[in-house]
Amino acid sequence: MTNTVPNYTLNNGVTIPQEGFGVFRVDPDKTGRIVRDALEVGYRHIDTAAIYKNEEGVGHAIAQAAKDGLVEREDLFITTKLWNSDQTNATPAFEKSLGRLGLDYVDLYLIHWPTPERGTFIEAWKTLEQIYATGLVKSIGVSNFTVPQLEQLLAETSIVPAVNQIELHVDFQQPELRAFHAAHGIATEAWGPLGHGTINGSPELAAIADAHQKSVAQTVLRWQLQIGNILIPKSNSRERQAENLDIYDFELTADELATIATLDRGDEGRNGGHPLEVN
Ligand code: NDP
Repeated sequence: MTNTVPNYTLNNGVTIPQEGFGVFRVDPDKTGRIVRDALEVGYRHIDTAAIYKNEEGVGHAIAQAAKDGLVEREDLFITTKLWNSDQTNATPAFEKSLGRLGLDYVDLYLIHWPTPERGTFIEAWKTLEQIYATGLVKSIGVSNFTVPQLEQLLAETSIVPAVNQIELHVDFQQPELRAFHAAHGIATEAWGPLGHGTINGSPELAAIADAHQKSVAQTVLRWQLQIGNILIPKSNSRERQAENLDIYDFELTADELATIATLDRGDEGRNGGHPLEVN
């Protein structure tokens, strides 16, 4: 199963498994077990964040899996994120994340939210550029940035973000942001790829899923893949983890992709683009 997830090449030449496993709202006490399941099921890319308070659990699962011969560190792609209140303090915040994960390096480090009211994301990015230069992080990127915020970042700093991790699902397809990313070599990484579990319930989507004898969740994830997004679905259930990885034996047609494009409600997403305190 693992080998069927394609590698996506980021703008600095680093490759990332296009589908990963997200651990937002995974209970810190259960994270070790749930990430172990995900590794056994075949995920090789894990997305966590300092604010999720479960980096230790991710780290334990990785260490144990390496000890058991399940997977080597270099075969994994680990993302974590700088929390908003640490934007002026990014180096120690990064070092703490590294310590909690028990790793020598992380694969991708993101500014979690721009929080423009703080006025500090440019400072944070310049520090991420310095951390990148040390080699302790293999790629740097941002999350939840809008087009104007990306424009400011590109104008005032040196490194183009490898990714912008944004809310993106069938109800909220973000065509303008995706086009901006494509024009600037920034990968689109979809968070909430299933719509946070409230998967679009339209008859059109159900019909497409039926035609391929797949679940609606699998159809949505396949759509994410085929439109070129990196996707990081989350599930506490080993069965649904496996279901979400079982999307490499079918292909949506151009007509089906066009139908799904019409389902975009273009709303503001789950929280109108504002950071949740627990996000
Ligand atoms: P998802 O779109 O991945 O949806 C997760 C929900 O869908 C859970 O309730 C899960 O329930 C359910 N689910 C999973 N698989 C299936 C399935 N096959 N059929 C039906 N239901 C299913 O939402 P998330 O918000 O978790 O986003 C994914 C990841 O994105 C996060 O874990 C995190 O890593 C990242 N993220 C990043 C943010 C950012 O600001 N950068 C913000 C939010 C998320 P169950 O667990 O019971 O299976």
